[in-house]
Amino acid sequence: MRVSSPRMAALLLTGGRVVDPANRLDAKMDVLISEGKITAIGDDAAKKAPRSAERMAVNGLVVCPGLIDLHVHLREPGQTSKETLATGTAAAARGGFTSVVCMPNTSPAIDNAGTVALIHERAAQQGIVNVFVAGAISKNIAGEELAPIGGLKRAGVVAITDDGHCVQNNDLMRRACEYAKMFNLPVMDHCQDYSLVTDGVMHEGYWSTVLGLRGWPAAGEEVIVARNILLAELTGAKVHCQHLSAAGSVALLRAAKKRGVPISSEACPHHFTLTDAAVGGSEKFWATDGKTLNPQLSTLNVSREWPKYDTNFKMNPPLRSARDREAILEGLADGTIEILCSDHAPHCDYEKEVEFDYAPFGITGLETELALSLMQLVHAKRISLPDLIAKFTVNPARLLSLNKGTLNAGADADVTVFDPDAEWVFERAATASKSANSPFYGWKLKGRAVATIVGGKIVWTEKAEAVAA
Ligand SMILES: [Zn+2]
Repeated sequence: MRVSSPRMAALLLTGGRVVDPANRLDAKMDVLISEGKITAIGDDAAKKAPRSAERMAVNGLVVCPGLIDLHVHLREPGQTSKETLATGTAAAARGGFTSVVCMPNTSPAIDNAGTVALIHERAAQQGIVNVFVAGAISKNIAGEELAPIGGLKRAGVVAITDDGHCVQNNDLMRRACEYAKMFNLPVMDHCQDYSLVTDGVMHEGYWSTVLGLRGWPAAGEEVIVARNILLAELTGAKVHCQHLSAAGSVALLRAAKKRGVPISSEACPHHFTLTDAAVGGSEKFWATDGKTLNPQLSTLNVSREWPKYDTNFKMNPPLRSARDREAILEGLADGTIEILCSDHAPHCDYEKEVEFDYAPFGITGLETELALSLMQLVHAKRISLPDLIAKFTVNPARLLSLNKGTLNAGADADVTVFDPDAEWVFERAATASKSANSPFYGWKLKGRAVATIVGGKIVWTEKAEAVAA
């Protein structure tokens, strides 16, 4: 007897440009999905499709493995006024993401097996994309005592990190690396040296002086990146540096990778699009560093205005200089930085609508990261489309040992369909996130998800959204 499933029996995607970097595939072909799996790809797909299969014509669109964002704050448990598993995964689906990894700096922190189980259970009930969990490195993310890493691994975490915070004690970090290696878990690190950064709120440089704001020096990140390289070398653990912002970090990682150190890193679109000049307001930004954006981005958005001290330009690590932005782009182009992600960090309006000094760090990003990455990297001709897709699929999947990120026959049918050339405006009213703290509202962007398919089920389409509106 067949049990009816919420999945469609079969779905045939026809005529799309299929890009699967794990298989070095980039060609126009069909993809057949059934029972939640990729069943056939290429000439076989149409032949094998049952007559009852739903057909979706995707001519002119890109069909790729479901995008993975390994750095997302879903704010559960305890901070559901900012985001929930339902709203966070809805924003992910809208951005073209089929899997996210949620960070453990919640309240309470995700530092024990019970809380991991709670997230898995709620995600199964309320989430519309796959939710993987990162556990904390230290108990309560206090940086003093290791969390039960073995227990977290058994509960199913895919990595450990104290993100939002950074373990300052080098011996504790060394021991975290040693345990993580035993359990084959990557150690992800938010690289911030507290003694150098103290209470800095923006990049230490020309603009922090002009604006009278306390500086967060690039060295505050670079020191910890160097520490992490040394500990990865010492312990053999997989160490991953999160949301790189500084040129020196890229140089350190490039040299370390040449020596074969098991270290990796990620970058977020805001760090390779904006600079610290943006904190001085739109007029200053467009008159200076805005000019050297991808010409499309600057031409389309030069009329976009924001005031000085806009807290939607406050994040941690902060927006840095044009030289740092260029170094991040170069690191992405030459493969030093393997992974793209958002650091989606929702906050309530009332929390952000305060003086710059007092606002929390962070911006939302799930719905804009694909477009900004396409614009700054692919449309700007810095990297190829398959290379971009690799940084959102197979590369994070390999780091986290996820059985995801490819379109192999038999793989889970997590598929993203997107239009790399679609022009659209990111509207505040349209965001699926519970929060609205993005610097990119009103921006004209190029490149957009058209359909997001998770385990064979279409969880979001542009068309359905347009009809609903
Ligand atoms: Zn962080």
